[in-house]
Amino acid sequence: MAENIKVAVRVRPFDDREMSHNSKMVIQMKGNQTTITSTSGKKNSFAFDYSYWSHDGYRVTPDGYYEPESPVYADQKRVFEDLGRGMLNNAWKGFNCSLFAYGQTGSGKSYSIIGYGANKGIVPITCEQLFAGIEDKRAGAAKDDEWQVSVSMIEIYNEKVRDLLVTTKTRNRESLKIRQHQTKGFYVEGLSSSPVSSYAQIEAKIAEGSRNRSVAATNMNATSSRAHTIVAINFVQKNSNESGQKMTKSSLMNLVDLAGSERVGLTGAEGERMKEGAAINLSLSTLGNCISALADQAAGNTRVKVPFRDSVLTKLLQNALGGNSKTVMIAALSPADINYEETLSTLRFADRAKSIKTKAVVNESPTDKLIRELREENARLLKLLKSGGVPITGDDSNSESKEEKERELNELIKKNAEEMEAMERTWAERLAQAQADANKQIKDQEEQQERKKNVPHLWNLNADAALSGLIVHFCDPGSCTVGREGQVQLTGLSIQPRHAVLRNTKGKVTVTPVENAKVFINGKAVAMETELHHNDRVLFGNNHLYVFHHPVDYAKMVKSAGKGDNKNADKLSPPNFEDAQAELAANSGIMGLLGDSKGGGNEDLMKLKDDLVKLFPEVQEANAMAQEMQRPVKFELLLMSAQGRGLREGEGQTEVYIRLINSENNTEFLWPKDKFLDRKFLMRDVYNSFMDGEADWKPPEHEDPFLEPADTPVLIGTSLIYLESLAHLIEISQTFAVTNYKGDDQGKLEIEILPCDEEWNELTNSFAEPESLIANPLKFKIKVLTGKGLPKRFAALFCRYKYYLDDDYTTTEEVPGGSDPQFNFEKTYTVATVTQQFMNYLQNSYIIVELWGRQRDSGRTGGKIAQIAESPNDGAVKGGPSREGLDSTDGEGGSGGTRKLLAELDTVTKEKERAELKVSLLNEARKKGDEKIDVDALDSTLSATLNGGDQKKPPEEKAGAGSKAAAANAGGSSAVIQQKREDVMSKTVSKACVLQ
Ligand code: ADP
Ligand code: MG
Repeated sequence: MAENIKVAVRVRPFDDREMSHNSKMVIQMKGNQTTITSTSGKKNSFAFDYSYWSHDGYRVTPDGYYEPESPVYADQKRVFEDLGRGMLNNAWKGFNCSLFAYGQTGSGKSYSIIGYGANKGIVPITCEQLFAGIEDKRAGAAKDDEWQVSVSMIEIYNEKVRDLLVTTKTRNRESLKIRQHQTKGFYVEGLSSSPVSSYAQIEAKIAEGSRNRSVAATNMNATSSRAHTIVAINFVQKNSNESGQKMTKSSLMNLVDLAGSERVGLTGAEGERMKEGAAINLSLSTLGNCISALADQAAGNTRVKVPFRDSVLTKLLQNALGGNSKTVMIAALSPADINYEETLSTLRFADRAKSIKTKAVVNESPTDKLIRELREENARLLKLLKSGGVPITGDDSNSESKEEKERELNELIKKNAEEMEAMERTWAERLAQAQADANKQIKDQEEQQERKKNVPHLWNLNADAALSGLIVHFCDPGSCTVGREGQVQLTGLSIQPRHAVLRNTKGKVTVTPVENAKVFINGKAVAMETELHHNDRVLFGNNHLYVFHHPVDYAKMVKSAGKGDNKNADKLSPPNFEDAQAELAANSGIMGLLGDSKGGGNEDLMKLKDDLVKLFPEVQEANAMAQEMQRPVKFELLLMSAQGRGLREGEGQTEVYIRLINSENNTEFLWPKDKFLDRKFLMRDVYNSFMDGEADWKPPEHEDPFLEPADTPVLIGTSLIYLESLAHLIEISQTFAVTNYKGDDQGKLEIEILPCDEEWNELTNSFAEPESLIANPLKFKIKVLTGKGLPKRFAALFCRYKYYLDDDYTTTEEVPGGSDPQFNFEKTYTVATVTQQFMNYLQNSYIIVELWGRQRDSGRTGGKIAQIAESPNDGAVKGGPSREGLDSTDGEGGSGGTRKLLAELDTVTKEKERAELKVSLLNEARKKGDEKIDVDALDSTLSATLNGGDQKKPPEEKAGAGSKAAAANAGGSSAVIQQKREDVMSKTVSKACVLQ
């Protein structure tokens, strides 16, 4: 019988960062309703099967369990009782079950699925209960009744499948193939499956899998939030039915901790050439597409096709989503206002998912029949193999070689044989083999726990809390080397064969970096032997981050804290990843980008700070990779105001950008942080292929994540043109300063906005009251004429702007680069009837004209890049340790960024002031002026007033524009208007003079 996927939502407490930012709560829950409220008060409500309030109303027990203090709080037990218990019952009945956790990174997916410490998640409790149930049954069971549990654990990262329970060196990095079975669907070829006979064993297996993830993630510096982890538990029950027939009942439980859902929606947002986002989150975006398609189908649209085959994840979860499975989804929600958009999109995802139907059937057959089927299939496969025929199985089979197909057939035969054997042999035999290993593993893990209490050691810190503390290196008395070839083996970026030496002399532990090796202690680079203290943070190379634990020091601290010495109480709690990153960033001097405005409660500033801390190691890593692979590129962090990106006031905030400097062809590009992060994900892929010694590690130029094609247009700067004059039918004809994102002058653009009459004659001497234009037609032209003194390093230039309510840009033709290009662009605009809204636009708004250029390739300019780049300056980082990615922050010492922001703000204000002044002067003069004055003189006076004289235009320039305008206007306006207009102008001068 078809039934809907069950959907639960759960909201976690604020984390430390959200607390310190005084985040606001955006989620409310009432009954089965979950409501999310935007900062502007917009509400969206959704109904789900279960709504878990885990935000507040709890207290923490001495052993760390979060238990309800108020009945609204949903603890781990309650979540298990609702979701896990049902799943367990279904597994006993012989249904396949699936559990998904969806949500952005840090929202609580792993907390719900696996859990932390005393707060065990659904998976461990389910396993515990499963074995408890088996024990119960076993008591009164027949002799050959059997309950078999085996576990597999995989990770899907970048469309590659890794077996997390197989650790041999060769297999570790190898990715497994996805195959398709005629009747059973997709499966992972060669996936290991470990038989387990107790909860302790399954727990040890999952711990091992997590540890493997952590090691791999650190060595390859993979972002674990981009991986999907699937724990698959296969539960088989064998017993005889009433008529004495042997029956096999099986249930596959797929427990899926999905990759962080952030930014999936932003796929290809900026029209990216490589669609980085899409490729990176292919599995997750395909999951989204499948769910949407399934929801459409549920709504009656049976023609939609569900793209299961488009990604690894959706192939493997096809059953979970639309087939033979009872499925539960838990959507984890971040409560804070800064996550509003992501949380809303998670709720929408969950809302679509709840309409999906699956059809679970009981997987039960007479054992004989199952064996017979397997035997028959194998006979058929063998025949096929002998005749060299084409296999009927296999995904994308047409792209595979004959050998590959044969291999696949052999694998399948082997798999079937194993399955048959498993059915025929007693479980006890199979278990016996695995048992010894499993027990040793449990013993090892217990021993390690014991040793941790007595031996000084380093434990790892990972961005993902679930992967922290899983890697432990003991510092036994004596010394040991750390490195690619060390006794403590670390691999990956910036790790030398012999990297550092750890020495333990009578309990005093030191670390000594080998020459040139990067070692940082508490954020500071060290070059000499340095003693480690309890809770010190130690970074080897780029990504091997550890915390030092000293049992003796720790015991002392606990003791003194017990005596009421609060000084050490703080030091007792272990450091976290975020703080360790923040101190690295702080010591690098990168925070100087924020200027003097440190601290303070400003929300935007906090966000910038967080971004800098987060991006700093990423930039370092990109540079280290580029260096090791000898790529001619370098990356730097900088701050970019909204205006610098060509946005209007209120359209965006200052953001962290990354500058790409290509020293081979002398080009530079500014990347938004998301683009950089996506690119870096791909860079790692290239780097890992490089490290694996793959012959074709170097991608073709157009797919190279380190490069940007030289001719990709870059924004040189913007000009702001206030439109208020047009509201008075006064022409705008001026050269406008082009300002880059730093507020630096990049030259000028000659732009005209000319009101026209019916026949498109330009009115250059007209004047009107804004009110008189309303309800009448208006015609005007926008001209982008020439550039003046623009940077010369561009091969081609063009301008673009958005007019009024347009969504799309109006773009000039591309013209050859040079300092004074001729755009000769003209566009006519007809407003059928001027509305009040349009009038408001003219009176209060402006057009941003963006100047874009394509850079010359290969440094043909011969000179240094001067425009976007400015000369790199290390002012902001002097005194800090020398690490890549730093030596050219934004220059101008500590307050560079702030100053630039101010400069930009200043430019906006100036342009606005200019326009306002012009109009107010005109208005005033209209009433009583009597002196004649030239339009251009007015302009230059205004310029002089507002810019302290430095933007005064050369006289010939003005004369050109002015006389042309005057000529075009001849005979157009009546003498009265002429008089009025000139009157207006006159007053301007006297007032401007006064202002000066
Ligand atoms: P995800 O797996 O979605 O990235 P995690 O499960 O690792 O997120 O959660 C992030 C952090 O928030 C962890 O430190 C975790 O302990 C904490 N957390 C998540 N959910 C809860 C909850 N319901 N109660 C208390 N802490 C939680
Ligand atoms: Mg997680």
